[in-house]
Amino acid sequence: MSRLTQEEFDMVKLLLVGGDPVECKLASIIIRLLNEPELCYWDEDVSGIYHGTCGVAWEMSNHDGLIANKILYCPRCGRKIGEL
Ligand SMILES: [Zn+2]
Repeated sequence: MSRLTQEEFDMVKLLLVGGDPVECKLASIIIRLLNEPELCYWDEDVSGIYHGTCGVAWEMSNHDGLIANKILYCPRCGRKIGEL
């Protein structure tokens, strides 16, 4: 992921201080991605399918989560998985 311009960074900071919970969450995700670009961040949707920041979609046959299933690295991009 490329770095943000100053204008983009200022926009992220506005999201963070705005007080809206969804906007704060988005801003914290952006900041985390910028600080740890070596990780592939996965988040689980309502159907139990994990989506990674590299575009991977992964569904497990149980709902025990990534760590219980010993899934530590993304099968698509090979980076270590970080959970959002
Ligand atoms: Zn990945």
